Order: sequence, then structure tokens, then C-alpha cells
Amino acid sequence: MIQFLSPIIKSGIGKSFKNKSILLSLVAIPAVAIGIYHQNNQGLRFYTASQVKMNEAAFIAPQLSPKWDFSPERILSDAKKIIDTSNDFYNAMVAIENPSIENFVIPSINFENENSLAINQLTFLQHVSKDKLIRDASLEATELITNFDIEISLRYDMFKQFDKIFNDLKDNKKYNDLKTATPKDYEIFKYVEKCHKDYVRSGLNLSEEKRNEIKEIKKRIALNSLQFSKNLGEQNEFVAFTKEELEGVSDDVMKQFETYTDEQTGEQKFKVTFKYPDIFPVLKTAKNPNTRKIAFNADQNKVPENEKLFIDTLKLRYQLGKILGYDTYANYNLDIKMAKNQETVMEFLVDLKDKLKPLAEKEIEVLKAIKKTEAQELNMAYDDHYYIWDHRYYDNKYLKDKFNVDLEKISEYYPVESTIQGMLKIYETVMNLKFIEETDKDLKSTWAGDDVKQLAVWKMDDPSKPEFVGWIYFDLHPREGKYGHAANFGMAPSYIDKDSKRIYPVTALVCNFSAATADKPALLKHNEITTFFHELGHGIHDLVGNNGIGRFNGPGAVPWDFVEAPSQMLEFWTWNKNELLSLSKHYKTGEKIPESLLESLIATKHVNGALFALRQLHFGLFDMKVHTTTDDNQIDNMDLVQLWNGLREEISLVENGDEMNKGYDSFGHIMSDSYSAGYYGYMWAEVFATDMYYSKFAKDPLNTKSGIEYRDIILARGGIRETNDNLKEFLGREPSKEAFLKELGLQ
Ligand SMILES: [Zn+2]
Repeated sequence: MIQFLSPIIKSGIGKSFKNKSILLSLVAIPAVAIGIYHQNNQGLRFYTASQVKMNEAAFIAPQLSPKWDFSPERILSDAKKIIDTSNDFYNAMVAIENPSIENFVIPSINFENENSLAINQLTFLQHVSKDKLIRDASLEATELITNFDIEISLRYDMFKQFDKIFNDLKDNKKYNDLKTATPKDYEIFKYVEKCHKDYVRSGLNLSEEKRNEIKEIKKRIALNSLQFSKNLGEQNEFVAFTKEELEGVSDDVMKQFETYTDEQTGEQKFKVTFKYPDIFPVLKTAKNPNTRKIAFNADQNKVPENEKLFIDTLKLRYQLGKILGYDTYANYNLDIKMAKNQETVMEFLVDLKDKLKPLAEKEIEVLKAIKKTEAQELNMAYDDHYYIWDHRYYDNKYLKDKFNVDLEKISEYYPVESTIQGMLKIYETVMNLKFIEETDKDLKSTWAGDDVKQLAVWKMDDPSKPEFVGWIYFDLHPREGKYGHAANFGMAPSYIDKDSKRIYPVTALVCNFSAATADKPALLKHNEITTFFHELGHGIHDLVGNNGIGRFNGPGAVPWDFVEAPSQMLEFWTWNKNELLSLSKHYKTGEKIPESLLESLIATKHVNGALFALRQLHFGLFDMKVHTTTDDNQIDNMDLVQLWNGLREEISLVENGDEMNKGYDSFGHIMSDSYSAGYYGYMWAEVFATDMYYSKFAKDPLNTKSGIEYRDIILARGGIRETNDNLKEFLGREPSKEAFLKELGLQ
């Protein structure tokens, strides 16, 4: 089956909300060569230009990077060509009378491997091209290919071929004693198992009537989620306030808001949109509680047209699970994740919730005291309540007043060029890699010229014989029409082709970091440094995949509740004093950051951490609640407003006041196939991330030996083996929750 690119998106609701950066201007930065150096046992050593010259031949990439010279017409004609070729290929495959590994499976693997780059390029451009016509053509191509893929994945004649081969395998000696199978055979067996399982999970082993029903359900679900996210992306709603009502919001932020004159009152009003750079500063800094209350609820109630799509999808999912023999949709979806079933997930979430409660109650007491003091100062009434619209405001006030963290000032020490060089250096040291930027105009090709950096990545295990790993792109700053969050897009997986030659992977990081202004270069905020480390974690996962079959390599190959763990683990480096110090270089003076500034920042890492975790648990438990219904009526009778708000108050311990809202209408995760009954995965993966960090890196974060083990055991194996077995091998024991609980301040 054709495998599509899916962005590995940073952040749940929550984490990225906490310190969301404000992205306003649009600036391209010139590409600057990334430092070239390599790690040996004595530590870091920079290559001088002459040394590079000497070794130049060793660093000629054995594979050219892809070309990006697409026109809108070509995008559509290529997409149609791929669909036609695929149709021909599958028709030929189903015509084979005696399908076998040799005449059926291996050609299928090769076909899938060979086509993934072209498909991903065509579908990726909608997110990043500078040209609207190209973005539109890419979106159209994506729709064509997605529909085609649903058809192919439900082709009964293809399933019959796989089914026969799968049954034959049961008599295969090597399959019955996998230890004797070569790595290549092992992968092929796993490929057959996986394809067969995918078909069964799509109901291909059921009657024609049921298969048709499933096809209809799948198409409707796909349509609903497409529409849901389109509505979300295109919403242009806002809430308006007077200047007085927005007291406390900084002048810079006030300048962002469009203004108009209210016809009835004649007052000037400021339009606050629900885009992060508008709504968050209001929730964080507007002094008037009524303003915050109105803004919070208006934001939560946006995109009301999504409600019917959401409810319809819940019903369809329940139906899908039922036809496929599961009591709930959650159990169907969890079957292929680490957690396996809903009982395990619920136990995990509820246990955490109970443990966090006493800690969160203490945090609220502190925040309430601040609220009380402020009320006295401002001569406002104090009612001894702590509402949901109070939280961002007092959390922010606490950070500012108590810890005195000046995020703007800190960012002056992190100009984007030197910081990224430094971050790559850390990656190189830990994982024994080497990044070399492609600056040769004849060899460089990107979708947005020099707005995008292109780098060749090498493995340096034998310094005299660098081993090419693949290509990575960095598209770091906002642009009109560009994807608005931070994500890693896998472009082409690593695989071995039909001539037994390794074909190298291509991957891209797409971010929206603060851009340069008229008087300052682009400076990275601390949360942007963390984001870069996070996304690069996914990117490296993609690059170092060592399996022969593309679909077993990279983040997309591991169970979805593990996918964030490698990236979450790397975030720890961005909270270490030494690493932050080494990355710093003031944009004017070149000075290192004063330690006191770093200390103030690091001290805030866990501030209000229990309340933050409980908010995540609210999302996770709501997601489980709506996906564990056991009959249709349950969904019809479900009071979603009560469920969403009631659960939030009960779990996050923050009061709703007299108003309830429909925040689920913009809960994008819940509409995705991967994150439905899967939001818990963020915290679940964090258990492993924290365990790996504390047991292997906390004492010596730059330890190359641990880094190489991590690279080769956790990342390079992708999804070919059980994740838990890899973890056991890397940790030298069963994974444990202990470090995670400790990190949350429990135990
Ligand atoms: Zn991620």
C-alpha cells in the first residue's frame, strides 16, 4: 500500500500553549554554513577548512537530494501518473495465479519503497510552497491520492493474495523458527504479517456487505476530519474589547489588533482573533477578569459547525469497531499500540490523576493567594474562587513576579544561526553524526530557495570512513501560506532497493520560529530551542533507520503511543545549564549568557507542573470517555457539554464558574485516526522518555557511548521489533515509571 507522509506534530494541546511564541513578521535569512566538526574520544574537534579539503572526497554524498522544480500542472499530472501506474501494478499483482514471496511480496515491497518519495513531495507542497497555485495543486493531488489509497487498501483481490501467502507462511520452516531467519527474511515475514493484519483490521476477511459498509464508514470519517480541520484552519472569528477592557495587555500586542468603531456606542473596539499570538497575551495579561472570562469562552466556543462532524464521527467509529468485532472503538484502535487496551490506558490516567491531586491543590493555594493580594491592591472584590479563565493570568503573574524570568532578554543570547550550529553540535556529539550544509547552488534544491537549509548527514563511527545517512531540510521561519506549527515531515524512508543498494532517506523540519526584525537578527526563545530539539529528534529517528523495508523505518513505524518518546527525551537537554550555556552567544556582544539568567529559567521548569499535567489528563480522559461507548444510543444521549466541562472541573481542579463551553469543537487531535483514543500517548511516551534520560544521560548528557546505543537500539530499528524489547535492551531492565513520577514531583 502506498504510505503517506504524516507530520509528526510537536506538542499536545497544552505543552505548546504554555510558552507559545508570537510569530508576526516574515523574513528570510541567508543560509550560513553550519560548523563542520566531529567528535573523537578526546571531545569536540573542529575541522579546519584545509582538513575538510583533505577529506572532501569522503564527504561526497552517494545520493543526490530530490529536486523541487514543480509546476502546478506537473503536480497534478504526476499524481495522476502515480495513480495510473499503481492501478496497473495492483492489477498485475492480483492476476498472479500462485502468489509467493518472490513473485508477489518482494515486488510489492519494491513498488512501495520506490514510490514514497514522489508521493510525499506532491502532498507536502501544500504546507510549504511559496506559490499559492502550487499549494492548491498539492492539496488537490492529496485528495486524489487519499481517495485512491482508501480504495486500494480495501481491495478484496489484493487481500486474497496476501491471505494465501500468509497461510503458506505457516508451513514455512524459517517462519516457524524466526531465530534462523536472515534479517532480510525476517523483515519480509513481518511485512506479510503487517499487511495481512492491516487488511483484517479493515474488515477484508468479512462478508461483502460488511466490507462495503466499512468502506462507506471510512470515507465518511475521512471526509469529516478533513472538514473539521479545514473549518478550524479557516476560522476567522474574533472577540472585541475596548482599550479599557484590555488593560494590562502590552502596547506591542495592542498594535496587533485591528480596530473599528462600534456603531451603537461609538467606542473604539479591538479585534482579538483566536490565533495564538492574539488570544494568549489577552488570557495571560488582561487584568479585568471579565475580559478574560469572555475571551476564554469565546475562544473555546469557536467553530460551532464542528460539533455535528464530531458527533457523527464518534458514531461512525463506534460502528466501525463493532463491525470489526470490538466492544469499543478505543479497544479497536489500541490493539496496535503499546497500551493494547482501554483498561490499561484508564488505569494509567486515573492513577496519575489521583497522585497529582494533592500537589495540584497546593499549587492552586499559591495561585489563590496571589489572586487575593492582587484583589486588595486593585481594590476588587475577592471571592475565594479560582476559575479556568484565571489560570493563565495568575500562572503568568507568578512566573513574572516570583521568578523574574525575562524570556525576551534570554532570547538575546540565542541568535538562530549560532544556536542551531550549537544544537547540531550536541546531536553530533551524542549520536556520533556529522551535519554538512549543502551550499553548492548546483546541488542544492529546496521548495523555497534559501529560506530552507539543506544538510547532508553522516555517521562517524569510523572517522576515516564517514557513512552517509541521508538528507535533512530545515525550514525554520514563518512565511505566508506556510504550515503554522512545528512538525517533522518524513519525505522518503531509508530502504534497500532491488539491486541490494541502500537508498537514503530524506526528511524535513518545518517550524515557525521568531524571525529577524529591522533591528535584530532572528532570536530563539527558550521554548523554540526546545521545539527544535524535539523536531530534530523525529528527524534523526527518520534518518538513522536501518531496516531494508521503508515502512519499518522512522517514527511512523513505531506504535503511536511511543512516537513522541525520542523527541521528548531530547527536550531534557534544553533544560540543562551546561548545554544552554554552551549554546549561548549574545547577538551583539557574543557573550555567554549570565548563569543567573539561566538559573531563573531552569527554576521554572516545574512551576505549576501538576496543574499542567492535570489539564493534559483532562484531554486524555475526555478522549477515552467518548471512544469507549458500547452502543449508539450512548453517544446520542451523551451530554458533551456537561462531559467536557464536568470532567475538566473534576480533573484539573479549576472552576468553571457559571459558564460552560464547547472546547471539543476545536480539539483537533480527537478527529485524527492516530490520536483518537490516543491522546494519552503524550504522557505514556513521556514515561519512557524520562526513564531513558535519567538512566542513560542525566549524569553525562554528552555521553557518546550511550548516544550510539540509543541511536542503534531505539531509533535505527524503527518498528521491526517490539518497542518494549528494544527498551529493555537499552535500559538493561524493564522500563519503569519511577523517573517519570519523580519528574512530576511525585514520590
Ligand atoms: Zn513530536
